[in-house]
Amino acid sequence: MSDFWQRVLIFSASIFAFCLLVWVAAGGLAAAVLFTVALLLWLLLQLQQQAALDHWLDDPEGRVVPEGSGQWEEIFSRLNKMVRLHRAEREQHTAALRDMEQATSALPEGVVILDDTDHIEWCNPLAEKHFGLDSVRDIGQQITYLARQPEFVQYLTMRDFSEPLILRGSREGSLVLSLKLILYGSGKRLLISRDITHLERIETMRRDFVANVSHELRTPLTVVNGFVETLHDMPSLENDMARRALHLMGEQTQRMEHLVDDLLTLSRLEDALNTLQEETVAAPVLMRTLLQEGQALSGGRHILRLELESEYSLLGNAEELRSAFGNLVTNAIRYTPQGGEIVLRSFERDGQPVFSVRDSGIGIASQHIPRLTERFYRVDRSRSRETGGTGLGLAIVKHIVNRHQAKLDISSEEGRGSTFSIVFPAGRRLPVAEKGAAA
Ligand code: ADP
Repeated sequence: MSDFWQRVLIFSASIFAFCLLVWVAAGGLAAAVLFTVALLLWLLLQLQQQAALDHWLDDPEGRVVPEGSGQWEEIFSRLNKMVRLHRAEREQHTAALRDMEQATSALPEGVVILDDTDHIEWCNPLAEKHFGLDSVRDIGQQITYLARQPEFVQYLTMRDFSEPLILRGSREGSLVLSLKLILYGSGKRLLISRDITHLERIETMRRDFVANVSHELRTPLTVVNGFVETLHDMPSLENDMARRALHLMGEQTQRMEHLVDDLLTLSRLEDALNTLQEETVAAPVLMRTLLQEGQALSGGRHILRLELESEYSLLGNAEELRSAFGNLVTNAIRYTPQGGEIVLRSFERDGQPVFSVRDSGIGIASQHIPRLTERFYRVDRSRSRETGGTGLGLAIVKHIVNRHQAKLDISSEEGRGSTFSIVFPAGRRLPVAEKGAAA
């Protein structure tokens, strides 16, 4: 039996025994009166303790737990212990939270905690600066009311946050932010913002420099190449060595011209102001053109086939798509020995239009595949040069693919061949047009 019931039992038994004694000594009426008075006193005591408890519950933070008497003494003392423990725990949590807040405030990145409906729950001082927030006034506000750029609003509604969003011109006009959204808990989101204005400026300087140098080199190269060709073709040139030298000079200047052209193409694709001009591109027409161009380049050394499993049109830029697909076909021809087979395919995978080029060529070892789209990355430098490569082809393809929100898939086996596929988002698939622009 618990202490509580033991005490109740002892107390009731004592009163009862005392009343029995009074009954024996002074009769039944006196005992009944005494018993009633004792019960009333006991009830009054209970009510008094309950009133003390009720009073304390009105303001448990500001008042001390009442002392109590009888059974209530024990109850209040246990309640007091619980309250003290709870307060100590709360102080610990508050201190831990304060530490966390201080740590996140010291972070070199902006942090905003959003709930599942994009309402701001908390933000650090840097996030206040990045988004123009006020950590007191704006708590509970929907972030898209305060930061309204369409790209940002669209990013928040997206499901794929693997890539950061680069937000230009946010707030102070020239501020460039890199934003990353991280999902955690039950539907909560952590929005991390990083000021990359300085990095962007350096990147723009680098891009401008490459574009300007390429542009400046173009004219002298054209002039030199023109003279070399004219000299080489002069009938009066009898010296064999001079002819060979001019031939080599012509080859090298042409390589440089290709390099400059590819660098200028990359600069154009990288230019943030150069937005994608979309049109309807009939894939079958484009692919037939590419097949013919591929056959001309191969000069009968390869078997080229076209497999149009699904005929669709693409919403994209005809010139860029032609350049990307063309690069893949050219590479397939350059890296496939004589007699090999090259297949140009268009099909659909899970509702997504896919364009692929499969070859039975030299293939690529798996460790090189992730780096192929880097500028000037070549598996075999001399082979790339021999076949007239600039090392920029796949970098151009990657840029075009990104501009179309598509994906470049590369699968390859050394010595057996490679397949390069461009997977477009389902939204870019259009019904095949009668007279679509191919290029
Ligand atoms: P390059 O002008 O050197 O061909 P790219 O950017 O087009 O430059 O390609 C990068 C590298 O990827 C190439 O140097 C080559 O090693 C490899 N590569 C590209 N396409 C193929 C292919 N179809 N088969 C084998 N290797 C390839």
